[in-house]
This record gives sequence, C-alpha cells and structure tokens, in this order.
Amino acid sequence: MIPAGFVAWTLLEYLLHRFALHGIEPFRRWHLEHHRDPAKPLQTPVLFSLMLVGAFVSLPFALPDAHAPALFAVGLCIGQVSQEIVHHRLHRTDSPSNRWLAARWREHGYHHEVDGNAAYGTCTGFWDRVFGTSPRQDRHIS
Ligand SMILES: [Zn+2]
Ligand SMILES: [Zn+2]
Repeated sequence: MIPAGFVAWTLLEYLLHRFALHGIEPFRRWHLEHHRDPAKPLQTPVLFSLMLVGAFVSLPFALPDAHAPALFAVGLCIGQVSQEIVHHRLHRTDSPSNRWLAARWREHGYHHEVDGNAAYGTCTGFWDRVFGTSPRQDRHIS
C-alpha cells in the first residue's frame, strides 16, 4: 500500500499543479508568484502542503478499517516530502550530476521558462506523457 500511495501522489501532484495551481484562485496567484520568483520563500504553499498532509493522515481514521488506508497515506506523505525535496533541488542553478534528476531539472526549467502549460510533473514526467503535456522537443531551453 505504501508504494501505491506514492504512485497516487505523483498523479495527485500532477493534477493539483495543472488544475488547482494553474487554474483556481487564489492558488493560481500564489503559484504564479513562484513562477516569477522561484527563490522567494512562499508561506501559503507551505500551509497548503501542511493541509494536504493533515488530510492524508487524518482521512484513513474516518474509515472502519484504517490499516490499509493508513499505509496508503504514508505513501502519499512520502511522495509529498520527496516532491518538496526534489522541487527545491530543481531550483538550484547548477545542473544535477544524476541523470534522472538532470532530466527533471530540464523539464521543470521548461515549465518555468518556456511553457507554463507543459511539464507539470516534478518527480516524474510520466503523467505529462499520459495527458499530452510533455515539453515539446522543438522548444527546449538552452
Ligand atoms: Zn518550481
Ligand atoms: Zn506551475
């Protein structure tokens, strides 16, 4: 259940980024601040993240058998924390030496600098491929 929760988080992250952070106010306004100035510390998304984690942790206990949902929630939380760590690294200016991280770094740079309607995934480009929002090969950043 933990890996299932982690995979579910990557999809949730994609959907939240694409449809909430780029579509719904006030999340959109807060998120576009991050697009304009990634280095600027943002209080609200941290609160947003804490609310998400709080929901993941408390929801399983509303169910009659909390065991499997609690493990699923652990996977969601691991996904959330990994995403925060990876996203932080993606905003350093030096390209990572790890191949996977370097690819994520290029795609996130593309999302910020070339096309905000593509490359929504932080930890994986899988959901971008599934939903047709991968970076266009002819529009790569230098
Ligand atoms: Zn970013
Ligand atoms: Zn964005």
